[in-house]
Amino acid sequence: MASKVLVVDDSMMVRQQVKRALGAADFAVVEAQDGMDALEKVMQNQDVCLIICDVNMPRMGGLDFLEALRKIPVFTSVPVVMLTTEAQPDLVARAKGLGAKGWIIKPFKPEMLLAAAQKLAASKAA
Ligand SMILES: [Mg+2]
Repeated sequence: MASKVLVVDDSMMVRQQVKRALGAADFAVVEAQDGMDALEKVMQNQDVCLIICDVNMPRMGGLDFLEALRKIPVFTSVPVVMLTTEAQPDLVARAKGLGAKGWIIKPFKPEMLLAAAQKLAASKAA
């Protein structure tokens, strides 16, 4: 069965780029357009094994989403990779404190994102 990945970004173009990057592997991709939407999507898809998440989004940003996610018992340790144009150390530190496994800066190399996704999805399955 394909590993399910949730991609959270307010840019449809970025979501498509991520989907394309992951397309080389056996991933089933679920999309969300902001943190609020992502909270609904994880409740509907509790078998999500990896989340790739933007930081700056309307309604609820990626770090507030991550904080809310960690309070949901089944998602306390699901791997999360932040994918963002931001590089401020305080934001990176907050993400790490919430257990984010990676911080990838846009624009990203598709093969790098795919490699990170495969490694982290495997770590969750193990
Ligand atoms: Mg954004």
